[in-house]
Amino acid sequence: MSNIDQLRNRIDEITLQMLRLFKDRTDIARQIGELKKSSGLGVTDEAREEQLRVRVTQMCKDIGLDESLGKKFLNFLLNESVKIQSEGKQTHLTVFLKAKALERQGRKIIHMEVGEPDFMPPAAAKMGFDEAFDGGIVRYGPAAGMPRLRDALAEYAIRNFGANATAENILVSPGGRFAVYLAVNTLLNPGDEIIIIEPAWPAYRECAINAGIKVRTIQTRLEDKWEPSITQIEQAINSNTKMIVMNYPNNPTGKILAPAIQDRIVEIARKNDLYVLSDEIYSLYAYRDWKSVLANNYEKTIVTQSFSKSHAMTGFRIGYTVADKNIIDRMVKLQALCITNVAEPIQYAALKALNSDLVQYKKSMKSKLDTVSEEARRIGLEFLEPDGAMYVFARAGAGIFDGLDFTNRLLERGVAVAPGEGFGNYKGFIRISVAQDENKLKEGMKILDEVLKGYR
Ligand code: PMP
Repeated sequence: MSNIDQLRNRIDEITLQMLRLFKDRTDIARQIGELKKSSGLGVTDEAREEQLRVRVTQMCKDIGLDESLGKKFLNFLLNESVKIQSEGKQTHLTVFLKAKALERQGRKIIHMEVGEPDFMPPAAAKMGFDEAFDGGIVRYGPAAGMPRLRDALAEYAIRNFGANATAENILVSPGGRFAVYLAVNTLLNPGDEIIIIEPAWPAYRECAINAGIKVRTIQTRLEDKWEPSITQIEQAINSNTKMIVMNYPNNPTGKILAPAIQDRIVEIARKNDLYVLSDEIYSLYAYRDWKSVLANNYEKTIVTQSFSKSHAMTGFRIGYTVADKNIIDRMVKLQALCITNVAEPIQYAALKALNSDLVQYKKSMKSKLDTVSEEARRIGLEFLEPDGAMYVFARAGAGIFDGLDFTNRLLERGVAVAPGEGFGNYKGFIRISVAQDENKLKEGMKILDEVLKGYR
């Protein structure tokens, strides 16, 4: 056998051994997942991961392996464990689907789990459809979006978010969700790390895990008014960290960060050359001083926005990104590959609806938030008064350990809310969406109180 054949055989052997070890590792991760579930522990244990990271760093030094590569490999393994252990996790979407199934059986459900405004979209959107059809705006178009809409969105971003933008800085995509997917999948690589401040909308985490990206979570607490610790953020950064996600006004807490703290986070990102993905989809529903991260003028900022919440156009599936041209160009390539472009009549309807008067939506959402907050206080839930968005994120009560059990019992009584577990390690919390008719909200809160009393 030649030397090269011998070496090749050796490499085959090592690969097979690695596979066997990987299989063992996966089996054990699954067993750990089961134990964690039964003892009420969260999937990710940051402290343990950190210990392992330290050991990997030392080992890389000992055997002369590039440290960054070693940690990427560790991230890949940790991610596989998280994937296995997250299987079957309940989020607001699973509750929503269960509620829909119950409705098909003829049951009446009050939907306080899903963040979908109950207002009709602006009338201009309807006229846009007709105009699009009559005007022959019914064809394929540029992947980044219709030039007219991109121009209008750039102007809108200058006026409303303090952006410094032209059409080149805009990408029109099918909803904010897909914009997040594009940003994560084009700007990051497997083994990279992303920082997510929890509680958080679950899609950031799921998107990252799906792309082989390691999630580092910064847990915030009700006791700290949901404020992230700057020290914790700094400590979570290493050479593989590439992005930090922000979402203010926040889903689920309704928190808006004080401008000084927001600026600090952007400064940390700048110092460490990280992308800032700022999901600002709830910016219309801001009831105290809010500023867009675009105003910080940091070139690695990606702001995702949508017509879903501000214009009550969830079913249109249209959103957009504001970012540096280089970032937009990269995201456009993946969008072209996946979907060609957003349907032209939808884009045209959005263009017509963009500058509609939204004052009534904003007022009405505030009134709903106040109603639910008042009810929540009355029945003894612990929560921080939301600064914005359309949710109340509350601790259901000291006696309630299992939010899942609670949301299931509530669903049996015809009220759907989202379990805290879907937003991170927040057992015992529930997210109440206020995007409903106020009478239904009151009725829902009354039933919630009754189910709660069953635990006391
Ligand atoms: N970001 C956040 C924080 C959300 O809560 C949602 C929807 N619930 C989205 C993005 C996605 O919105 P869409 O895809 O409908 O634009």
